[in-house]
Amino acid sequence: MRSVLASGAVALIAYALLYASPYGLRVLTVAGVYALAATGFQLVFGLAGALSLAHGAFFGVGAYATGILGSQLGWSFPATFPVSLALPVLLALLVGLPVLRLESHYFALATLGIAQVVLLLAVNTPDLTGGANGLAGVPGIAAFGATLPRGLPLAAAVWAIVALGGLLAWRLARGRWGRALTLLRDDPLAAAALGLDVGRLRLQAFALSALYAGAAGALAVHTQRVVSPEVLEFPVMVSILTIAVVGGRGRVAGAVLGALLLIHLPEWFRFLERSYLILYGGALLAAIVLAPHGLTGLLERLLPPKPRPPPAPLPLPAPAVADGPVLRVEGLAKAFGGVRAVDGVSFTLQSSRITGLIGPNGSGKTTVINLLSGLERPDAGRVDLLGRDLSGARADRIARAGIARTFQSAGLPEDSTVLEAVAAARLERDASIATAEAHALSVLARLGVADRARERCGTLPAGLRRRVELARALARQPRVLLLDEPAAGLTDAEKAELSGHLRAIAADGVAVLVVEHDMGFLLPLADRVLALDQGRVLYDGAPAGVPHDPAVVEAYLGAPA
Ligand code: ADP
Ligand code: MG
Repeated sequence: MRSVLASGAVALIAYALLYASPYGLRVLTVAGVYALAATGFQLVFGLAGALSLAHGAFFGVGAYATGILGSQLGWSFPATFPVSLALPVLLALLVGLPVLRLESHYFALATLGIAQVVLLLAVNTPDLTGGANGLAGVPGIAAFGATLPRGLPLAAAVWAIVALGGLLAWRLARGRWGRALTLLRDDPLAAAALGLDVGRLRLQAFALSALYAGAAGALAVHTQRVVSPEVLEFPVMVSILTIAVVGGRGRVAGAVLGALLLIHLPEWFRFLERSYLILYGGALLAAIVLAPHGLTGLLERLLPPKPRPPPAPLPLPAPAVADGPVLRVEGLAKAFGGVRAVDGVSFTLQSSRITGLIGPNGSGKTTVINLLSGLERPDAGRVDLLGRDLSGARADRIARAGIARTFQSAGLPEDSTVLEAVAAARLERDASIATAEAHALSVLARLGVADRARERCGTLPAGLRRRVELARALARQPRVLLLDEPAAGLTDAEKAELSGHLRAIAADGVAVLVVEHDMGFLLPLADRVLALDQGRVLYDGAPAGVPHDPAVVEAYLGAPA
């Protein structure tokens, strides 16, 4: 795969040096501009999964910054380029804060709104922007008194910046940051539960992608030597989006391949004249239907990358823990509309102890776990972890404080390998992906599933998936472990094994809370049992007393036959 891409790059350079006409070089330069914009777009759309429609606006702001400063004030490239990078980033930070937390389609609409506002501003401030006519006489890329001539020198400069930006994006995408972004794209709740600050990561991706778009806008203006509202209009955004999807979502190489193809496409289909958007629509549809992972996805299918050698397992140091209360919960309450899902629940979890949480369906067990892990905000109540007040804190802060959880309906990324899924739990702690994977492998080994590390999560049988989820929570090295029906769907043998693992985890000093319906599994395992009904605690005491407690029998267990 890499050698194919490298040969492609060499062929491109040879074409530019030996064969391309001046017009061909100009098209190539424009392709470079779009490759840069699409590379940035891959970060926010491809990796973080947020469909931003503001990238046309960021491109335009970068373009206008260079256009206005260059033609009106006579600034040259070393002064205008940084401004063209900084302004879109500022704009992204400003608008990103309120809109990034919106659901994806509302986010897309909000970012489209930004683009419209910027376009109206550009058209309606003619003194500054030249209005609908734009500004002519923008200088080329000039520094130290010399201007880079059009043709080969300009193309080379633009593509050098593409190479630099591409390299940076590629490194980021492959590293911890890129992994964290894909995790939050695939499952934002799980990402937060694994300690990742979802909002901050999205904002970083959005701002960095704006930087790329601004750079591309500036280079576009240096190439055209004019700036007009066209740089802010929707076709720019459509082009960037199409390039990213056709090239392959999330891939830097995809941005470059897509840009080369789609910028040249209208040249090859001249007879369509200015209706190249039809061509783009067609290319987009074809890619979505025929090659959902784009050109790079196709290449990868033809030339599958060699699997990396597995890391050597690196054991996690066992934290020093004292016996005693770890998590104190007081008066926890949460209502959904009229339903009091959790209604004044208090309990304490002790280190090295397993607490069972039982109750009929809908009694509030999952909601208790959601409240304790920060996925829901409590209406009232106090949560205190080793003297630290976590009441109402955000999920990622709670996770970093030492509470880990699993989900009732299994949440593992289908396409990730077992190793990647568990290493995700270490992204926020370990300095590199290699260390995270080495730690993950040692946790998998502890649970007896290290031999499955290379398999895709989607292909695992239910019992193993549960084990991997447990490994992922355990890789957080939690003080408190919250398990929502971990034995559901397991065979008796698997349940026995799970009991053994949970006892060993507790013996290391972890306070464990287990939601479970199977009394045969839970009662021998738990040191203590809490029973809920309609959000209230019915019973809190020894497991042995559960089957004889009249209230629990009436609400949950039913009369013995
Ligand atoms: P359990 O896990 O004990 O089966 P849950 O905690 O899932 O119960 O649900 C408790 C009650 O809260 C149920 O009546 C459920 O319908 C309601 N509930 C839970 N989550 C939500 C939500 N996000 N929105 C509205 N109602 C909810
Ligand atoms: Mg539940």
